[in-house]
Amino acid sequence: MASKDFTVAIVGGGMCGLVCAYALAKAGILVEVFEAAPEFGEVGAGVGLGPNAVRALDRLGVLSAVLARSEHSSPVLRPFLFVSGYDAQEVIYDYSVSDDDRGLPIHRAAFLDAIIGISDMKIAHLNKRCIAVQHTHVSATASDFGSTLFFSDGTSHRAHLVIGADGIKSTIRKYVVDPLAGDAEHNTNRNNKTNLAFSGSSAYRGLLPNSTVVAAGVKIDLTVQPVCFCGIDRHIITFPIQAGRIINVVAFSTITRDNSATGALDELPHPWVQPVAKQELVETFETRGWGADSDAIKLLNCMENPSRWSIHTVEPPLLSYVNAARGIALIGDAAHGMLPHLGAGVGQGFEDVVVLTELLTHPETNLSNLEHILNAYDSARRPRGNMVLEASARMGRITTRYGKSGYSNEDMRTKLAGIWSPVWHHDLHEDINKAMESLREKCVFKQAESS
Ligand SMILES: Cc1cc2nc3c(=O)[nH]c(=O)nc-3n(C[C@H](O)[C@H](O)[C@H](O)COP(=O)(O)OP(=O)(O)OC[C@H]3O[C@@H](n4cnc5c(N)ncnc54)[C@H](O)[C@@H]3O)c2cc1C
Repeated sequence: MASKDFTVAIVGGGMCGLVCAYALAKAGILVEVFEAAPEFGEVGAGVGLGPNAVRALDRLGVLSAVLARSEHSSPVLRPFLFVSGYDAQEVIYDYSVSDDDRGLPIHRAAFLDAIIGISDMKIAHLNKRCIAVQHTHVSATASDFGSTLFFSDGTSHRAHLVIGADGIKSTIRKYVVDPLAGDAEHNTNRNNKTNLAFSGSSAYRGLLPNSTVVAAGVKIDLTVQPVCFCGIDRHIITFPIQAGRIINVVAFSTITRDNSATGALDELPHPWVQPVAKQELVETFETRGWGADSDAIKLLNCMENPSRWSIHTVEPPLLSYVNAARGIALIGDAAHGMLPHLGAGVGQGFEDVVVLTELLTHPETNLSNLEHILNAYDSARRPRGNMVLEASARMGRITTRYGKSGYSNEDMRTKLAGIWSPVWHHDLHEDINKAMESLREKCVFKQAESS
C-alpha cells in the first residue's frame, strides 16, 4: 500500500531524476518516471562529484551502490592543479585540500547503472517526451490538485505532483517561470520564456586512454589529480577516471561575455552539439598563443573526431524552483543549470533531491499540504542553488583570464584560494531543519521534528 495519498510524476530520467525516483519509491510513494530517450543513458563522459554530492548520495542511501560501480572503494581526495596552458607545465596553484574534501570521479553511465541496479524499473517509462503540462481543473479542494502531462506519442498521464528533472533544456521550467502557463483557460503559448541562455562557452569533450596521452609526449601526470590548463578565453579541464586508465578531457573556448550574473549571452547558437575537425580544435587554442609543444596542445592532438558543445545556463537565475499552487517542482539542471567550471552541477541536483524527498516523505506531508511543502523546498534550496550557479560563472571568469593581458600567477592564487569551500562545505541538515521549523511555525507540521 502506498505511504502517501498523492502521486508523483518525474519528467526526465537523468542522474537527478533517477535518484529522486529511487528515494521516493523506497519511501512507498507512488512515483513514475518519464524519460524522452529510448533508453537510459548519459551524454558526455566522466563526472566529478564533490564532497557535498557524496554526502547527499550517502544521505539518500545510494552511495554504496555508486561506489560499487566506481573504481574507488571510498571517496578520494581530488585537489585541482592549475597550470599554464601556454608552454611548459608552469604550476600556477595547487589547490590545497583536507580530509573533509573527499569526492568521487565516476563515469556517468556507471552512475546510472548503479541507480538502475537498485531501483524497481517498472516505474520508468522510456520514449516519453513531455511536451506540455496542463492543470485541467484547479480549484480549492485538495482532490483537484494536480496536472496532466502530455507526451509527444499522443499519450498523457495525471499526477498530483510533477517534478521537472528534464535538464538544462527543461520543458517543465516554463510552467514554473510562468505560473499560469499550464492553465487550461489560458493560452499555453502566451509566454515561452524559459530562462535559458548561451553561456558564451563551447566545450570539446573526450575520453582519452592515458597510454595515448603519454605516447603523445604529455609530460604532466594526468592520472593523479584533476588539472586545469589556464589561458585567456581558453581553458582545459582534465580528470582521471577508471583508476587513471582514462583521462576525461573538456576543452573550453569562451567568447567575451557581458556583465550578466551568470555570464550568459542573449543568443542561443544552433546546433547545440556539432562534430568538428581536430584542426579546428587545435587552432582554437594555438591562435591564442598556446605553444605547439605545450602539454595542452599535445593533449588536444590526441582527441580524434571531437565535437563542440554549446554550453547553456539558466539565466537569469530562477525566482522560484516551484509552482506550488500547481504542484510543480524543479530539480537539477532544470532548476539551476550552471556552467561546469566548479564541477558542481549534479551535486546541487542531489542536494535538491535530498531536501525535496525528506520534505515529501515526512510523516505529516500529505496531499492537502503539498503546496506548503513545495514552498518550503523552494526557500531551502533556491538561495544556495543560485549561489553555486553564480559561483560557477565566476570560476569561469577566473580560469579564462590567465595570461599577459590578464591575471598573473599571484592574482590567480588569490582568486582561487578556497573557491570550492562554500560549495563543498555546507550543512544541508541545517537547511532541512530550517524548512521543517518554518513548516511548524506555519502549523503545517505539528509534531516536534527529531531528525
Ligand atoms: C561539459 C560538462 C561537464 C560537466 N562536468 C560536471 C562535473 O564534473 N561535475 C558536476 O557535478 N556536474 C558537471 N556537469 C553538469 C552536470 O552534467 C549536470 O548538472 C547534470 O547532468 C544534471 O543532471 P540532471 O539529471 O538535472 O539533467 P540531465 O542529466 O540533463 O538529465 C535530464 C534528462 O531528462 C530527459 N529529458 C529532457 N527533456 C525531456 C522531456 N521533455 N520529457 C522527458 N524527458 C526529458 C533527458 O533525456 C535526460 O535524460 C557538467 C556539464 C557539462 C556540460
